[in-house]
Amino acid sequence: MMKPTSLLLLAALAMSSCSKDSASEIKPTESSNQITSTVLENEFTEIAYPDSRGTPTDIYYTGIKMAVENIDGNYIYQGDILIPMEQASKSPVKLVLEKGDKASQLKSVGRTSAYWEDNVVYYEIDSRLSGQDRVFDAISHWEANTNLEFVKRAGQSDYIYFTPGSGCSSYVGKVGGKQNITLANACSTGNTIHEIGHAVGLWHEQSRVDRDNHITINFENIQSGREYNFQTYEENNLDGNEFTTNLDFGSIMMYSSYAFSKNGQPTITKNDGNIYSVQRTQLSNGDVTGINVMYPGSGGGGEGEEEQPEPEPNYINGEYYTISGVTVLRYNNLWYYNSGWRWRRVELIDGFWYYA
Ligand SMILES: [Zn+2]
Repeated sequence: MMKPTSLLLLAALAMSSCSKDSASEIKPTESSNQITSTVLENEFTEIAYPDSRGTPTDIYYTGIKMAVENIDGNYIYQGDILIPMEQASKSPVKLVLEKGDKASQLKSVGRTSAYWEDNVVYYEIDSRLSGQDRVFDAISHWEANTNLEFVKRAGQSDYIYFTPGSGCSSYVGKVGGKQNITLANACSTGNTIHEIGHAVGLWHEQSRVDRDNHITINFENIQSGREYNFQTYEENNLDGNEFTTNLDFGSIMMYSSYAFSKNGQPTITKNDGNIYSVQRTQLSNGDVTGINVMYPGSGGGGEGEEEQPEPEPNYINGEYYTISGVTVLRYNNLWYYNSGWRWRRVELIDGFWYYA
């Protein structure tokens, strides 16, 4: 892993079969709705609300400020990423407490660990969702190519809920509780693989921290008000980590050259000025490499029931992590938090951070 940005994801995904895909379903129609038809023509840019434009707004999420669009009561980031509203706030929230402060006064902010434990992702499908094969095919693809297992929910409280929506969208990582992946009829199996990628923790490939080594963002061609969609996740203060060494144009998480174009000109080009092609068929080899780092296999452990205690995550000194909504630095096997003007040592107690 390069770059001491913190925990969580990023990177890429990859591979095989996933049969019937998009193309047949995504015929651009001469729909009366211009925006929708634009979106349908571009199956490579998933959008949560193709028909709506929200107001760009700043929110605080996991203690940090980020730019999102507010549409229909949801915060949308980069077109198809949902930010849990109840975990976000309009103003900065005190996330690290002085000893003696009452944790109970705090609203719960931020994700804790956005990974799915034990490589198991629970899900449920809304009975109203049409084309449920999209979900089954996408899940099969993920299971065939990664160490993740998708299990029909049986009462578990944290799970993905596949449900109809105006577009394709997902939260990033395990948010806690029920988290939607919305799939409009136009969302293909490939788009579903992409949205699952978000739900297990991936940002978009073009928002990698090192993306400027590979691509140029042509801001003059981006629809106005949508420029923030082209920031790196780090510019948006989101936590992440590159799990592969290079930007992967083949990633199923990569935007197309024409994403959010206002004038038919490319919004993203290679640094040599050329456009590139992207795909929404399968996880790329790079995607799989990254995912395997995030979700390694059990590595030859025995069958089932060895109830080991939760392994202490292997925190690396010098790396940043976001835990319980706070970005902290691991140093000398202790935690430090930058309170704005200086580093102070902090401790995590019952899910809340306190100054040590
Ligand atoms: Zn996306």
